[in-house]
Amino acid sequence: MRFGIKTLDEAEVRGKTVLCRVDINQPVDRAKGTLKSINRIQACVPTVRELSDRGAKVVLMAHQGSDIEYKNFYTTKPHAAVLQQLLGREVKWIDDVCGPAAREAIRALKDGEILLLDNVRFVSEEQTLFEMKLCLTHEQQAKTLLVEKLAPLADLYVCDAFAAAHRDQPSLCGFEQVLPSYMGRLFEKEYCTVSQVMEAPVRPCVFVLGGAKISDAFLMMNTVLSRGVADKILTGGLVGNIFLTALGKEIGSGSVNFILKSNYGEYIEKAKELYAQYGEKIVLPVDLAWVEEGQRREAALGQVPGDITSLDVGSKTAEMYRQEILSAKTVFVNGPMGVFEQAPSELGTKAVWQALADTEGFTVLGGGDSITATEKYGLASQMGYICTGGGALIRFLTGEELPVVKALRHGAELCK
Ligand code: ADP
Ligand code: MG
Repeated sequence: MRFGIKTLDEAEVRGKTVLCRVDINQPVDRAKGTLKSINRIQACVPTVRELSDRGAKVVLMAHQGSDIEYKNFYTTKPHAAVLQQLLGREVKWIDDVCGPAAREAIRALKDGEILLLDNVRFVSEEQTLFEMKLCLTHEQQAKTLLVEKLAPLADLYVCDAFAAAHRDQPSLCGFEQVLPSYMGRLFEKEYCTVSQVMEAPVRPCVFVLGGAKISDAFLMMNTVLSRGVADKILTGGLVGNIFLTALGKEIGSGSVNFILKSNYGEYIEKAKELYAQYGEKIVLPVDLAWVEEGQRREAALGQVPGDITSLDVGSKTAEMYRQEILSAKTVFVNGPMGVFEQAPSELGTKAVWQALADTEGFTVLGGGDSITATEKYGLASQMGYICTGGGALIRFLTGEELPVVKALRHGAELCK
């Protein structure tokens, strides 16, 4: 038991039918019927392999795309092929989720065999819009078609989908109401790592917050400052620009227009309030960079031309942040320092990311673009921990109890 949830160490799985929810949602190339990336499939391999090695009949449930992300709404067939290759053992697949064919295939499994069901979101109750419109309680989720049809065939439920832990849907929160439930190895690693950072970070604990998802960044900041988790917050990207504007610094009219155009105007006021309360912990850029005719330009605050659009922190800021990161014992990162996708505005992100790789402190990094930057600079192996679950990680750091964590704690009580 860790953080109120049972681990696979406590599960007796030999000869048992195990329903295991994974998050292997990947970008799809519909024309070719292939996956553009396989990192999430790789991440769940240890759990699937262990369950199979220990003699479980492994039934995998997964989603792919959604109504909102319809271009990726697709069958899980290509995932089965990739998983089979990664595992080096057969992964059966069936074009059914919980109908008679799926149930027959589950009943036919032998010990150690693995079956991946089709996209759970093909079943309407699982859809994301439903989650927001119907708001089913966990008890109600236990009465949905998916759970009523599959739970009777299974002995236990394992959730390895930390990346989807912020979702309140039957395949994630329903089975824990009726089956003994456990977290998989990936879930355990991710959840326990981030819980550790929140509950007892080794100090000094520095947060690096940049990027463009302002509402998430502000919620996180509020939580980690009010709970005393963060000793310092280094700001960059749009987050930094909003703080600088709040303090009346000149960052260029293009930068301010960008903030207003993105409907982030209200955060200028919030930044003022946060700074008034926690100013000594919030570190702001001391210089900024912009791009002129394809060339990088930089200026210290106070000398920034009035009409520019800032796309990166300056090199003095990058060096200052590097020193902070090198002397930290825990560093949490979400969001790049600038528009790192183009060469003239990548310096800040590149330098800060190099510091993350160089520091002896434990680094936790999450967020789609932050991971892209890590891969771009070839630093993935030097990070302490890269979290596959951006959305779940951010919800967790805003202080909310994740629905799947709540459900798994309930499901732990059903274990003998
Ligand atoms: P993550 O995906 O890591 O959570 P976000 O999605 O919040 O990060 O932000 C990433 C995006 O922010 C990148 O596409 C980057 O180009 C953009 N960005 C960073 N700095 C700025 C800036 N100063 N102005 C505009 N966009 C920025
Ligand atoms: Mg992003």
